[in-house]
Amino acid sequence: MTINQSGWRPEANADLAALQAMPATVTGNRGLMLEEALIFEIGATDRTGVDIATAPDVPSHLGGLSRDAAIGLPGLSEQETVRHYTRLSRQNYAIDLGLFPLGSCTMKHNPRLNEKVARMPGFADIHPLQPVGTVQGALAVIYELAEWLKALTGMAAVAMSPKAGAHGELCGLLSIRAALEARGDARKVILVPESAHGTNPATAAFCGYAVENIPATADGRVDLAALKARLGPDVAAVMVTNPNTCGLFERDMKNIADAVHAAGAFVYCDGANFNAIVGRVRPGDLGVDAMHINLHKTFSTPHGGGGPGSGPVVLSEALAPYAPLPVVKKQDDGSFLLVEEETAGDHHADGFGRMVAFHGQMGMFTRALAYILSHGADGLRQVAEDAVLNANYLLRSLDDLLDAPFGASGPCMHEALFSDADHGNGGLAEGFTTLDVAKGLIDEGYHPMTVYFPLVVHGAMLIEPTETESKAALDQFILALRNVAQRAKAGDEMLKGAPWYTPRRRLDETLAARKPVLVWEANTAAS
Ligand SMILES: *Cc1c(COP(=O)(O)O)cnc(C)c1O
Repeated sequence: MTINQSGWRPEANADLAALQAMPATVTGNRGLMLEEALIFEIGATDRTGVDIATAPDVPSHLGGLSRDAAIGLPGLSEQETVRHYTRLSRQNYAIDLGLFPLGSCTMKHNPRLNEKVARMPGFADIHPLQPVGTVQGALAVIYELAEWLKALTGMAAVAMSPKAGAHGELCGLLSIRAALEARGDARKVILVPESAHGTNPATAAFCGYAVENIPATADGRVDLAALKARLGPDVAAVMVTNPNTCGLFERDMKNIADAVHAAGAFVYCDGANFNAIVGRVRPGDLGVDAMHINLHKTFSTPHGGGGPGSGPVVLSEALAPYAPLPVVKKQDDGSFLLVEEETAGDHHADGFGRMVAFHGQMGMFTRALAYILSHGADGLRQVAEDAVLNANYLLRSLDDLLDAPFGASGPCMHEALFSDADHGNGGLAEGFTTLDVAKGLIDEGYHPMTVYFPLVVHGAMLIEPTETESKAALDQFILALRNVAQRAKAGDEMLKGAPWYTPRRRLDETLAARKPVLVWEANTAAS
């Protein structure tokens, strides 16, 4: 296809109108796009895909707790089951299918080498309760990865077990609370900038803290003067995302940390956007006390579709004693020891407890370490550089058409932020919204960007291309987005009905979120 950077091709949209006039099919299928009913609709409770001998009549040991009604699960043959899930999988969007521009999510390619390593039986087939002597290799992986994370962040310690970014935030704040309690200091407030990811205030509230907002400056960064004015003996910590969710580096980070420390509080850094600075900046040098690292973002372990996350938390000297157990320790003879409650001794006696039963997401540790070792220190630095380059290429390829609220203040970091505002050549047409642009992108074959976040920008569109997209892939995405944006600016009514090409059209997302129907009931289908 010829890439026409000017974007809108009216004839493409005329084709769309013609397509809508095409006759419906009797099956609901449209070529290779197959209509698929719910498993409850195609299965039957009196059918099964397996042939099991009738169970012998044995006395029940369930003490009256056995089920007394039919369970009602639909039965399908093996072939029906395989087809059902294969058809559904074809309706999914995935990073293996195309560019996934979801801002703040770092949807990068998942190298297949990592998958190979994670599937090695020595890692995949072991159990956390095996004797330590039989899992030395797995402990070595956890230890090696921990060493890399400490080196890359310039921090003293790391808690490996948190299972997601938000879980890491919880771990960080619990460490901070333990440190404050140890000095008999019951501080009650956590300060969070306006642009923060929703998990930050949620975590603080979950830990029992009162959450207060710090305003942003006109250039999208934390207002240092406002922060300093609010600091006091009641503030336990400040949570800052760096680079922040406007795609900007918080240049005042060191000054923020100095002021926070002078007030006796701690600095929590949300490290979800570490991809933009890995190998270039060590958060420890900026005065950070705790920071989670999303292995599923920066270190390419698969995510999306609810796949497992992993959110190790690096900790400063001041917080290291309060880290949760377990910890993998290397002994003088080169073997690995698991430091748990009964082995903890003095050094870990102040740890606040455990985040999880065992060690965290082992499958993500193997993948992340494979990623780190295959890139090496120089390769990781290039990851950050290329991610930033790609985001700036997008920013400058679109900012003549869409308002880039912080575009004038210089280059962005890992993601480009746009709004629905007028910026000289008109905003979106009357009645057209960011949502219409997002839905139009689906027809063009893309997962939409993050929309309406961060909240500090009206009608936000947050795009993170990551370093793994080629220039050709970026050009094609730019073409698609320019086309859709021009249609939204020109008031193309067809766009209000997008997406047209998906199995289901525009859904009532508010109703789905507020009143989700999560339980199958036969009469729901009949009505
Ligand atoms: C992704 C993200 C989180 C939460 O991480 P999860 O792994 O999804 O729990 C927190 N903050 C920011 C800025 C993020 O992008």
